[in-house]
Amino acid sequence: MKNLFKCSVCSFIHEGDNAIDKCPKCGQPQEKFIELTAEDTAKIYKSERTNDIHMEIIALTDQIVKLAKEGIEINLDPPCTSGFTQAKHEAYVIKQRSKAEIENHITKGKW
Ligand SMILES: [Zn+2]
Repeated sequence: MKNLFKCSVCSFIHEGDNAIDKCPKCGQPQEKFIELTAEDTAKIYKSERTNDIHMEIIALTDQIVKLAKEGIEINLDPPCTSGFTQAKHEAYVIKQRSKAEIENHITKGKW
């Protein structure tokens, strides 16, 4: 676990032994960076993989919606079209659930 420094202007987080000279996001100088506490640093490292998984799941639901729309458009028969319609709805629910969880992580400093 390395030290983390957060830009107090834009929230960019830098990983390293010291704060970075200039914020890569907003251009503010090193003095604007605040070193995170060990507790806050641990939260960020601990949640890193789950945040990535949520983002990947969100990307996959977009693919499911795209495929379901194609299946609905083909309109082979009612049960098939109904299955695609249901898949599209379920993908949306999965996406919203992951987005809500990411929001919860962010508000708790797990980002
Ligand atoms: Zn910044």
